[in-house]
Amino acid sequence: MANLAAVIVHGGVESSQLMEGLPERKAALARSVESAWQQLEAGATAEDALVSALRSLEDCEYFDAGYGSYPNVAGEVRQDAAIMRGTGEFMALANVPRMRYPAAYAADLLRGRKSTMLVWNPSLEQELRQQLNAAGGTELRARYGVVDSDAELVAPFAAEVSRRVRDGAANNKNGTVGCVIRDQQGRIFAGTSTGGTPNKAEGRIGDSPIIGGGTYADDEIGGFSATGFGEAFLGAMVGGHVISEMRSLQRKDPNIFLEAESRLQTVIRTELDRMIDRPLSGRGALIVIPTRGNPVFASNSAMLNVAAKFRCASGDLTEYVKIALFDGSCV
Ligand code: ASP
Repeated sequence: MANLAAVIVHGGVESSQLMEGLPERKAALARSVESAWQQLEAGATAEDALVSALRSLEDCEYFDAGYGSYPNVAGEVRQDAAIMRGTGEFMALANVPRMRYPAAYAADLLRGRKSTMLVWNPSLEQELRQQLNAAGGTELRARYGVVDSDAELVAPFAAEVSRRVRDGAANNKNGTVGCVIRDQQGRIFAGTSTGGTPNKAEGRIGDSPIIGGGTYADDEIGGFSATGFGEAFLGAMVGGHVISEMRSLQRKDPNIFLEAESRLQTVIRTELDRMIDRPLSGRGALIVIPTRGNPVFASNSAMLNVAAKFRCASGDLTEYVKIALFDGSCV
């Protein structure tokens, strides 16, 4: 494999250090990164690798996506997901019901139609039903993880955290999942999948499916997936500012992130910290892969679930799975 290939995934941030499910979270992060890496090595498309990475995280009940999504205030699970190619093409879905793997569905929609952002609606529902009833419907049902009721997506842990947040016994808790990939040709792909914030308002759409808000990829610059308090991310345009700063730094020196990984961490951290000081204050994290350079993450939250695998410029293979704490340490 050429040195360009790189994968980074996240399983969201937490505003307080919830220690539940640490082994399960680490195992899911490791599975996620490894499945994407193996797919790339086997010659699959980066988009398939991305979907595979997200699927492993959507399956983990300790992350707020797929199985494990937080119900909204009406007790329904409504997910947001987006897939983006570094060419600028994307598929963004909001308020998706009864689906364990909405990122896989978004990726398939992107193959079949022009880039768009869609809020779940009766014609999409009808189109999906027709697909499920046609030949190959059983495979599609499994591929998208279609279930008959929201209750099938609410894991015991998510129900418990939602109750704690509702009763004021816990801070807001996040756990969105995301992945950024640079393939062997240096092309960038990004995807994010989420159940949104616990007890969110009906119809609420967070930052995750917003292109440039929670998910972004540009072959000339790099890509990111965000996690944290979505409204604050959107209000401060955190991701947009990171991409614009990356572009201006790389224009001056195309190798800037190749040589100084911490330079990119500073760019991200500056924008995340700016978000704290605004009236609509919030915390969170970004995982980023620049066009040239190693994958990087930065967080100003109590805890971030993150894993990566890549070859550095020397050709050495690097991999890690981390539950990264605010002070820079890991558990
Ligand atoms: N950013 C997501 C949202 O606001 C939540 C998360 O990252 O966990 O919907």
